[in-house]
Amino acid sequence: SAASKTIPATLIAGDGIGPEIMASVTEILDVIGAPFDWDPQRAGMDGVEHAGNPLPAETLTSIRRTGLALKGPLTTPVGGGFKSINVTLRQEFGLYANVRPTRTIVPGGRFDDIDIVLFRENLEGYYAALEHYVPADGDPQGMAISSGYTTRKECQRIVRYAFEYALKNGRKKVTLVHKANILKLLTGLFLEEGRKVAKEYEGRIEVNERIVDACAMQLVTNPWQYDVIVTTNLFGDILSDLTAGLVGGLGMAPGANIGSDAAIFEAVHGSAPDIAGQDLANPLALLLAAGMMLQHIGRQDLDTRLQAGIDKVIKTDKVRTRDLGGTVGTRELTAALKQAVA
Ligand code: NAD
Repeated sequence: SAASKTIPATLIAGDGIGPEIMASVTEILDVIGAPFDWDPQRAGMDGVEHAGNPLPAETLTSIRRTGLALKGPLTTPVGGGFKSINVTLRQEFGLYANVRPTRTIVPGGRFDDIDIVLFRENLEGYYAALEHYVPADGDPQGMAISSGYTTRKECQRIVRYAFEYALKNGRKKVTLVHKANILKLLTGLFLEEGRKVAKEYEGRIEVNERIVDACAMQLVTNPWQYDVIVTTNLFGDILSDLTAGLVGGLGMAPGANIGSDAAIFEAVHGSAPDIAGQDLANPLALLLAAGMMLQHIGRQDLDTRLQAGIDKVIKTDKVRTRDLGGTVGTRELTAALKQAVA
């Protein structure tokens, strides 16, 4: 009922398959009685078409008010000189932590029983993109330069966030992933500050260190040794797609962008224009993101119910969309999920 919807939250359906999967997710959330009072807003191409801006001022105002958003995939407008939507949101709301959980739901894939949560620093590193080109007479002499930066403050904040998460969620081990042997300052600082933070959790959470290239190999050869991973921006971007691949690809990968004043939850995949409007999209990544949002507001109980419903439908009943080797469409999967969580 409307009376139980006490938590204001911004809802951005987004582009392509966005409206289809968002409809699926909000229907399922209604069945479990999720307390979100949605404020629908536009972004992406939808924003460009209706408000002349991929990130309209009303959308930003809404997020500033609610401090909470569920966001569908956005098509990045090509040309037009618009700034990246995700980068703008990160900067606007200081979304310093990117959280990517990966858990095996569909068994019998290449890897079973994967359960890793990756934390990526979201504001600094090489993605600060301080780039310039040094022109020279004649092309072969031309040179591109890129600088990254990390601050002690952000290194501490992201590592502490990962350790706090580990503590709250009964996790045993946090691995600091870096390249301090080569980038002695840029990622050496991350390692140095990470070790300091880890000391505060001594005896409660095990700490581990791994060089990023070795980590990439081990994630493929023996991913079960990993529990919680925390790393810098660029490495986290790459490794989180790798971990998504371990559990069935982008259709199963949720993500959260956390700041001190706002948190934005989303599917990792894009707007999938190739299948938009055809009832083929898998809503699970966005549904799992909504589950993270329930956890964020302290409703673990509802997230647990959601997870149990997903497990029943996907694992036991084997009702799956095409990307997971199944045959059902978005609507039929949604109906099965609504029944399972009821
Ligand atoms: P994409 O993730 O949209 O699609 C890649 C492939 O995965 C496609 O074949 C698509 O059909 C499939 N796919 C993705 N999500 C699916 C789902 N839920 N169910 C079933 N199949 C799914 O990546 P892309 O094609 O490179 O990008 C399309 C647009 O999305 C671009 O404009 C890109 O900039 C944007 N994008 C947005 C985000 C975001 O908003 N977070 C992320 C990535 C890409």
